[in-house]
Amino acid sequence: MTVAKGREFLNIPGPTTVPDAVLNAMHRPAVDIYAGPLVEVTESCLADLARIFRTEGNTYIYAANGHGAWEAALSNVLSRGDKILVLGSGRFAIGWGETAAMLGIEVDVLPGSWRHAVDTAAVEARLRDDTEGRIKAVLVVQIDTASGVFNDIPAIRQAMRAAGHDALLMVDAIASLGCVPFEMDAWGIDVAVSAAQKGLMTPPGLSFVAAGARAKCAHEQAGLRTQYWDWTAREGSLHYQKYCGTPPEHMLFGLRKGLDLLLEEGLENAFRRHRLLAEAVRAAVTLWSEGAAFAFNILEPQQRADSVTTILMAEGRDPKPLLSYCAQHCGVVLGIGIGELTGKAFRIAHMGHINAPMVLGVLGSVEMALKALDIPHGKGGVQAAVDWLGEHVPP
Ligand SMILES: *Cc1c(COP(=O)(O)O)cnc(C)c1O
Repeated sequence: MTVAKGREFLNIPGPTTVPDAVLNAMHRPAVDIYAGPLVEVTESCLADLARIFRTEGNTYIYAANGHGAWEAALSNVLSRGDKILVLGSGRFAIGWGETAAMLGIEVDVLPGSWRHAVDTAAVEARLRDDTEGRIKAVLVVQIDTASGVFNDIPAIRQAMRAAGHDALLMVDAIASLGCVPFEMDAWGIDVAVSAAQKGLMTPPGLSFVAAGARAKCAHEQAGLRTQYWDWTAREGSLHYQKYCGTPPEHMLFGLRKGLDLLLEEGLENAFRRHRLLAEAVRAAVTLWSEGAAFAFNILEPQQRADSVTTILMAEGRDPKPLLSYCAQHCGVVLGIGIGELTGKAFRIAHMGHINAPMVLGVLGSVEMALKALDIPHGKGGVQAAVDWLGEHVPP
């Protein structure tokens, strides 16, 4: 028995739903790479990415996924043997640190909890201990897609200042750009990275790096620069130099449309929409959790991300039946637990091109699965989500 016919809803935290307008923008013949519409698309995308990162600095577009942007960011400002500090709070900052280690960078990890945001007091203390100023950069994610944590980037920058440390601040905004406020310049971020396939509603395959003045300065001395990632090479006057070769044309037409959709909505409105839908998900999960079969992975409510919710199963409970039921019987593919949460959690994404029926449909499907599988849960989760939205989205 199934009620899964119809369009399947991929509800994982990336890639996210690609709007038809973006898909349609990509459906066109290849164009000249030396002149014509593509050159304008490149210029306007670079400028609009800077608007979205909120920086006066430079932006770069890579034909690569987020892991590529990680390597691009590191190789443009660091040298072999440099030391960096990675702020743990889930999977992704650690992964970025692993990329750095393979480049020959010395990586210190400030261990974090999978259930909490980065501890800013610990950051300050760790940097105070670095009396010789060996740490060249601090790496952190704004939203960790594995744990579902939201890190307070301005507070981390403040902790660095309080320690009197001048390391570069490098932030992964892959699962947060376009979903929650991000203020690269105002928050003192030196390098920011993001990717196409999450809040920016574009198919996977493009990623972005933004570099502020201090990063451009470090770039001059950086020993890890390579032809492909190099910012200076990409600032060459010929259009193809912006991509170190053939531009990813169709991806760029898609990106142009994705950025148009975001800017037409307005960043503030997009942030508000993400907050509203995230709160609706949290209202449902709060009620369901009364059954004690699972709970929010992130313990402090204000540290829960507005783009993804990670739900941790109680000891000994496997999330797999719930995930399979939703996929096979309802046509909703939820996110699995990854990293330390493999086999222990599931994730509900609320990121990018999503609206109330998509989120309420997912919540309804999860509640249906809880009922069908006899998983103990507090009743009325979907109703709580509906009520919350009804109260907070006035006519
Ligand atoms: C998805 C994600 C990545 C990795 O991006 P890929 O495109 O899969 O390489 C890195 N960091 C965060 C926070 C992410 O959510």
